Amino acid sequence: MISNNNRLYVFGGPRDQVSIGPNCLGVEINNELNLFDCGVGMTSVNKKGRRPGGYGPDMSLIKNIGKKIANVAFTHFHTDHTAYAPTLEGLRLAKENTAFWGTPVNNAISKEMWMDTLNRSSEDDDIGYDYLDYCNAIGRFRAIEKPGQFQMGNLVVHAIPNGHTYGSTSFIIETPSGHKALVLGDAAWHNQALVKGATWPSTWPKELLPDEIWSNDMTYASGSSEDEKPYSQKRDELIAYVKEKLAEDKIIILIAASTGKGQSLAMDMAKAEIPCWIDGSIRSFYQIMRQNRWSDLDEPLPPLGDESGIREVQNHSHRRELMEDGLPKVIITTSMMGNFGPIVEYFEYGLPRQNFVFVPTSWLAPGTNALKLLKLIEKYPSWKGNEDNRKIVLRTRDENKNDTKIVVPVVAEVKRFGMSSHGTFGDSLYFMKDLIDARGGKVLDRILVSHGTYEAISRGAMAFSEFAKNVVPAVRGTILEVD
Ligand SMILES: [Zn+2]
Repeated sequence: MISNNNRLYVFGGPRDQVSIGPNCLGVEINNELNLFDCGVGMTSVNKKGRRPGGYGPDMSLIKNIGKKIANVAFTHFHTDHTAYAPTLEGLRLAKENTAFWGTPVNNAISKEMWMDTLNRSSEDDDIGYDYLDYCNAIGRFRAIEKPGQFQMGNLVVHAIPNGHTYGSTSFIIETPSGHKALVLGDAAWHNQALVKGATWPSTWPKELLPDEIWSNDMTYASGSSEDEKPYSQKRDELIAYVKEKLAEDKIIILIAASTGKGQSLAMDMAKAEIPCWIDGSIRSFYQIMRQNRWSDLDEPLPPLGDESGIREVQNHSHRRELMEDGLPKVIITTSMMGNFGPIVEYFEYGLPRQNFVFVPTSWLAPGTNALKLLKLIEKYPSWKGNEDNRKIVLRTRDENKNDTKIVVPVVAEVKRFGMSSHGTFGDSLYFMKDLIDARGGKVLDRILVSHGTYEAISRGAMAFSEFAKNVVPAVRGTILEVD
């Protein structure tokens, strides 16, 4: 029986078998409803069934709660954690003084991404906000200036860097009974060029050790992920591959997210003394990160230019020049799923050519161009002998925002390197063990298992049962009591 009005609401999570879904946790304490993350999940098709699209958290629960949202705190700027926030305006779920809390880099990059979504969307997409809503939303940002404690409405919250991406953070929340609850967000414990791995709980101040976990990161808790190679080995293999292809006079296109992966790869190349070009919003977000270092885990980004060897692709004609001169080079570009932005131009020009190599580096949602490309080359590993079949139908959008299809033969080489910015399932288990040890062997009161496919969440729920009195798979619509 629910004996007070302090509750948790799982608004986010997957709604089909293949996707991870958006992150969005409602925390109602002392009559105030706050959200931790408010994202959009990727799905293979949008409402019209034409191209990959997104879906938000299930906010229908809010009608029954009968409250508007007081604050939203973001763990980091990735769309599955932030992109639904401007839609709260469209749904009239925000109040006049509702605040959006994030690290400075989170806030600066989110603003750009929300604008970008608005610019790129057509009426088919139904993103749920317009320009006025966007202006309201960006006016709500408050900066979490540095790691440590801050007051968010009536909640005392502690921000602790979590090693996932630039300025990403976990939150530790004090409950009315004095318990501590951890909202982990996405987290990684291995060092990436852009951000060092997170610290383990045994190194945290004793008073921060959580009694419960309200959200975690099950992104890689499905399939056979725990026997994966370590990140450093995958990075070394990627660098060796790039060097080999440069020696073969190839133009190598690294396909990466603009929000971390792209910048991290550029820094990996710089460390290996391989000059590279960066394109798309990797460029502007690089500068934003450079100016908004938040914690000791965030590595300083080198200035662009001769010294670092990291240079910007200036514009469309410069991009054409770099492709047409035929000289071996590395270009790091967006979008990571291959559906829009400069990658479409690289695909159109480079896929039919022998001197191009395409390297996707991120998790790929079903139905995206990049995943279709990988499936195609799995079926037809070489161009020779498969000339009639090694073709891809690229789905994209033209300048008039009409969905279009382009058919392109795939002569170029394609190879995936998964450079993960998430902990493995093994890391998650170690995190729990380390936390219990730090608590003197005392198991947690509760773990909500979240942010993965249904398969990953159920795997986590079973494996974590030894670490808590109560393990709850965090599926949409779950309501729990807080004391
Ligand atoms: Zn993320």
